[in-house]
Amino acid sequence: MSKEPATGSLIDGFSRRIDYLRVSVTDRCDLRCSYCLPKDFKGFETPANWLRHEEMLRLVGLFVRLGVSKVRLTGGEPLLRRGVIGLAAQIAAMPGLRDLSVSTNGTQLARHARELRAAGVTRLNISLDTLDAAAFSRITGRDCLESVLAGLAAAREAGFAPIKLNSVVHAATPEGEVRRLLDYAMVQGFVLRLIEPMPMGECGRGFAHTDLNVLGARLASQAGLIPALAASGSGPARYWSGGHGAPVLGVITPMSQHFCATCNRVRLGVDGTLYLCLGQEDRVPLGQWLRDGASDAELTQAILAGIAAKPERHEFVTRPERIIRFMAQTGG
Ligand code: SAM
Repeated sequence: MSKEPATGSLIDGFSRRIDYLRVSVTDRCDLRCSYCLPKDFKGFETPANWLRHEEMLRLVGLFVRLGVSKVRLTGGEPLLRRGVIGLAAQIAAMPGLRDLSVSTNGTQLARHARELRAAGVTRLNISLDTLDAAAFSRITGRDCLESVLAGLAAAREAGFAPIKLNSVVHAATPEGEVRRLLDYAMVQGFVLRLIEPMPMGECGRGFAHTDLNVLGARLASQAGLIPALAASGSGPARYWSGGHGAPVLGVITPMSQHFCATCNRVRLGVDGTLYLCLGQEDRVPLGQWLRDGASDAELTQAILAGIAAKPERHEFVTRPERIIRFMAQTGG
């Protein structure tokens, strides 16, 4: 591996330090959430183009060497990728990595929670939009709310804390459903985060957003929560907390109040494409160059050049038609 440049070099053209890499380990998913993937989607990456584990480790290792300290495994549904636990363990063991997290829909979590924890995964985000079984089937295309709830219980039993529930809330989401989720999260000790739908792919464009700052403030006040000042860390969520001070409710508002000025992340697709912004087409075909025989030094230079050209911000509001790839293709 090349010796230069060293840790801390990942500063983009807008003085943002990039220290967070999201890695899509598969673009396949066992759910078809209405705002994420069309029911009859056929455009999945061919398996021959999926990075093999050793290829993923090589690219992730280069990012970590350049100063990335946080990695999230995502997808598609990451727990569908064969061997993902071993992959997680190898990433967790990389010197310099401080935080390895996983985003999951929870359907496979009851089987895997314990081994994910043992592998060194520090945090879990679990997607859950409703506690109503019929609404869950409608939104996800599968009748498996019970498996997700079993997965959540297993995650807590395995010792994950905090556990964040990610919930896409759009203009037509019944407020009572969101309140029910908040009550559930508060009883279970989970953190509920409400997310505005982004116009990614044609199905993402089918959902109008509502300003979740407003809904969050209303729900927080009804539940006796107060704004949390410094609880959000470097992430995009704004939080409300309970009496103990820990965050309980958060909102992520890419549409009504974007947070691009503090963006600290880039994404690696399942084929090794580096996406520099969720809401722009700028990308670097790292996986292809790796397979063409690029050296670590050449890949490092390509990463640095990509980061230097990271777009200032998304254009989801002004140009909603722009991003034709679906969320599951980029890695959520
Ligand atoms: N399968 C995993 C999961 O369910 O968390 C990881 C991938 S999923 C694409 C990551 C997150 O993206 C989920 O919370 C999902 O709800 C969210 N998501 C998908 N499409 C979205 C969209 N158009 N706008 C906002 N969030 C979206």
